[in-house]
Amino acid sequence: EAKRAGSGAIRMFNPEMQLSINRRLHLEAALRRAIDERQLELYLQPQVDHASKVTGGELLLRWQDDEFGQVPPNEFIPVAESSGLIVPLGNWVIEQACALLQQWSTDSQLRELQVAINISPRQFRQPSFVDYVASCLQRYAVLPGRLELEITENMLIENVDVTIERMSKLSQLGVRFSLDDFGTGYASLAYLKRLPIYQLKIDQSFVGDVLTDVNDAVIVETIVGLGENLGLEVVAEGVETAAQEHALRELGCRKFQGFLYGRPQPINYWAERFTTSLHVAADET
Ligand code: C2E
Ligand code: MG
Ligand code: MG
Ligand code: MG
Repeated sequence: EAKRAGSGAIRMFNPEMQLSINRRLHLEAALRRAIDERQLELYLQPQVDHASKVTGGELLLRWQDDEFGQVPPNEFIPVAESSGLIVPLGNWVIEQACALLQQWSTDSQLRELQVAINISPRQFRQPSFVDYVASCLQRYAVLPGRLELEITENMLIENVDVTIERMSKLSQLGVRFSLDDFGTGYASLAYLKRLPIYQLKIDQSFVGDVLTDVNDAVIVETIVGLGENLGLEVVAEGVETAAQEHALRELGCRKFQGFLYGRPQPINYWAERFTTSLHVAADET
């Protein structure tokens, strides 16, 4: 509201806004410390195929702070993004993913699994991004095809040529790109044929109401059809119930992620279970 009033207007802040600004500044300082002291952790959430076999998983950041308690990524990632802390933090995530893939490559059960990580726009905009990923893959002797980079549609809008160049370089190495939260962004569909994308990740907002909202079911079906026609893998995220999975299967979906198969847990929690069986029991967590 203050913005809309124009630059000449006096900005009015209510106490609540002041609090959130303070919280943000404090969070930023605490996050900087946490990154320095390696207090963030990566959790893993499995993904399964049509036969309920685990294909790999997504790494998700977790931060337990002494002062703030458990801070959700939806709160600290934007702080990391606006402060620039996302660059060292994101590099750490890339390195951890490569180290994990190297570790898994020595185990016959785990060596085929994919690891997906989330890439923020500011991180991707770093001129050194491609070289950093490539050097990590090399340093840990990782098969690039095991690493999936999740990006969002909105970061495809600006600097399209630079984006194409960067994505092409990495995809030529074998790295796979996934479009996270697909269907919620602002990019035109034209980029789908210009960019080397491997996977579409149906946003969980469409999955949550797929049983009750016919519009969401139609959207899911459309995304699945789009994927089939363009030769892209499609995965549904946020699957919580067997009934949702059933509906998604009817709509043609063949890959799934969600609490139904398992919550994000410390990496070793899942690695131990994957080593025993790549079939996760739906009622296990
Ligand atoms: P995302 O990449 O779309 O990740 C999926 C989110 O949905 C995760 O939330 C996950 O815990 C949650 N989720 C998974 N299955 C279910 C389900 O069945 N039901 C429900 N209700 N939720 C489910 P999380 O871990 O809180 O992460 C939120 C967002 O924060 C992520 O969304 C991603 O955009 C961002 N994020 C997390 N880790 C990183 C990271 O390492 N780097 C970057 N740049 N962003 C990250
Ligand atoms: Mg993601
Ligand atoms: Mg998502
Ligand atoms: Mg998201």
